Amino acid sequence: MLPQQTSFFLKHQLATMAALFSSASSRDSHRSLMYHSIYSDRSITDDIFSVNLKNFTQQVNILKELDLSIVRFDEAKAGISITFDDGFLDNLTLAAPILFEAKLPFTVFVVSDYVDPAHPQFVNKEQLKKMASNPLVTIGSHGKTHRPLATLPLEEALEDLRQSKIELENIIGKEVSTMSFPHGSFNENILAGAEKLGFKKCGTSFPYPNQLNQDSVQVDRQCIYFCESKLSYKQKLEGKWDRLWRK
Ligand SMILES: [Zn+2]
Repeated sequence: MLPQQTSFFLKHQLATMAALFSSASSRDSHRSLMYHSIYSDRSITDDIFSVNLKNFTQQVNILKELDLSIVRFDEAKAGISITFDDGFLDNLTLAAPILFEAKLPFTVFVVSDYVDPAHPQFVNKEQLKKMASNPLVTIGSHGKTHRPLATLPLEEALEDLRQSKIELENIIGKEVSTMSFPHGSFNENILAGAEKLGFKKCGTSFPYPNQLNQDSVQVDRQCIYFCESKLSYKQKLEGKWDRLWRK
C-alpha cells in the first residue's frame, strides 16, 4: 500500500469500528452506491477509488445473499442502486458481465470528453453504445470536462453539463436524464440549473440515504473504496455508515 492509501485505510478501519456501534437505518430509503474503476491487473496504484475485481465480485455476491432490493438510480424506490463514475472501460469489460449475470441494473456516469481514442482507459463511442444497448444499463452524464462545477462561473458550469448531455445523447441515441457531479462539486444554483437542462436525478458524493421522494433531484451516494471489507460493505448496505463519514 502506498502512503496515501495507508492513512486512508487506517481512517477507514476506525470508521468501520465506529459503525459497529451505530444502528442500522430504516430500509425505507434509497441508498445509492458510488463506484469508479474496477481492475484486475493493476498491482500498484495510489488510487483509493478503484476496487479490485475479486472484491467487486464478493460485493455483488453479498448483494445477492442479502436479497436486497436493487433499484435503478433514477427510481425513488426503497433499495440499493449501483452507480459508476467517469465511464471507465473496465466498467464494461469487468463489472458489467458480473452485474448482467446477476441481472442487476446499474448506472454509468460518463465524462463526454473522455469518450475519445485519446483516452483508452475510458469507453469509446462503440463501447458506450454497446453498454447503453443493454436494458440493465442507464447512461448518465458526469460533465463534459470533469472540472469541479462549483469552482466555475455558473453559466460555464451549466454549459459544460448541457454539452455533455447532447454529446452523450448523440452517441447512444437515447435521452440522458441523470448525472453525477464531478468531484462531488456543486451548489444549489448548479442543481437547479441541471434540473432545468432536463436532468431528473443528480448524484452527489454525500454519503446519506435518500428519502423516497419522486420530486427530489438530488441523490446522495455512499462511495465504495479500495479497502472495503465484507464487514464495512455490509455496514454501508445496512445504513450504518449513513452520516458517519465524509472523506
Ligand atoms: Zn469523476
